[in-house]
Amino acid sequence: MTTPPPSPVPVPDQILIHPGPALLDAAADGPTLTAHRERYGTLPQVDLRTLLDLVTRVGLRGRGGAAFPFATKLGAASQGQRPVVVVNLSEGEPASAKDTALAMSRPHLVLDGAVATAQALGAREVHLVLPDERPSPREQMRLAVIERDDPVQVHQHVTQPRFVSGQARAVIELMSGRPNLPVTSWAPEALDGYRGRPTLLSNAETWAQVGLLLHVGEAAYRRHGTRDEPGTTLLTVTGTGLTPEVREVPFGSRLVDALPQSVHGRPALLGGFHGAWAPWSTLAEARVSVPGMAALGFPLGAGIVHVPGSDVCPLTFTSAVVDYLAGQSAGRCGPCFNGLPALAASVRATLGGHDATERIEQLADLVTRRGACAHPDGTVRLVRSMLVALPEEIAAHRQGRCLAVRATDAQTTAIPVTDTQTTAVPTTTVQSTAVQTAARETPAGPTTGRMTS
Ligand code: SF4
Repeated sequence: MTTPPPSPVPVPDQILIHPGPALLDAAADGPTLTAHRERYGTLPQVDLRTLLDLVTRVGLRGRGGAAFPFATKLGAASQGQRPVVVVNLSEGEPASAKDTALAMSRPHLVLDGAVATAQALGAREVHLVLPDERPSPREQMRLAVIERDDPVQVHQHVTQPRFVSGQARAVIELMSGRPNLPVTSWAPEALDGYRGRPTLLSNAETWAQVGLLLHVGEAAYRRHGTRDEPGTTLLTVTGTGLTPEVREVPFGSRLVDALPQSVHGRPALLGGFHGAWAPWSTLAEARVSVPGMAALGFPLGAGIVHVPGSDVCPLTFTSAVVDYLAGQSAGRCGPCFNGLPALAASVRATLGGHDATERIEQLADLVTRRGACAHPDGTVRLVRSMLVALPEEIAAHRQGRCLAVRATDAQTTAIPVTDTQTTAVPTTTVQSTAVQTAARETPAGPTTGRMTS
């Protein structure tokens, strides 16, 4: 069996967490339960009607990438018997670090959101889905669970290190003791999920938003963002030579303000590996907004902004991402088994100076909406955006040239690690300005662990 190609953006072993206005305003307090309770008080108690009204009024959307309205999922899950709450911290996208940042700095805000919702729903179980490839956040969440005395059972599961492991159905398969891979589903998991039960599954940031909303109330939550899109969201900014940075930004703010000065003027990959290339002109004008950026054709997704350095060819980078994505599927569906390797080959041909546009469009039409999950569709989105956003690079390659500036030729050979205006937040676990996220000496946990608190 051949080894799948590695991700061109590795899982970070260190991240910088910038102070933010809401979720991350108390990150410097550290991740302990004592510090959390001192700031926010006891676990919120809320009934289902009040919670539904609250999340509906503020228009809370999931922060895992699809931006699905949380109230719709909550309402659906409340209709069935024996609902289950799931906190998805798997962060299968290597370029993302926001859930890691929350696990390392605000684990109890995440857990308060999930446990308070479980109580409102009448759910007796909360399941945490933790990343195999990120030992430090995994261990921090385990410590946080041990500190608490929650009125629900808390179960823990560890994902397989694969891009699609965090997909909702793959998570439910893992929880059910089956291979951690996506499968075809005929109903939303909120109606028919874990063992056929209503399953309210959201990622860590979504639960932290619920926790914050319950603790501070609607008026304080609305102090940030816009009237139609209140609140904040987390972005992960990565790039060549950059330590990944997690920044909290209000909705409606300028995207460019979240980007280090050193990367201004360059195109960026928005939304991660299933996202789209955006030219600098778009980045410079864009406001952070789920509907606003979707309307521009650049969905915010899970909030990843990747900016390759001037010495990195975005075509070469895209080709490496597509090679990686093609190797990450379960290979169970035709679009992934046959389509993605063919798509990867066409992108490599483009890199080699061939005009593969027609072939790419042909393959894109063949694989889109044909998989059991959205993995082929996301890969196609990335490749199509390459054709639209990088015409100069494609033209140069057809002439046998590359526009990337070789590091030895560049006046600036690497992008600075961070801007110096902002100090990253220290945590109680690591007394420095950065957070270690991959303590490789930490032994890997069991594939599926179980803990009752
Ligand atoms: S579309 Fe691809 S990743 Fe999704 S279930 Fe099918 S083979 Fe797996």
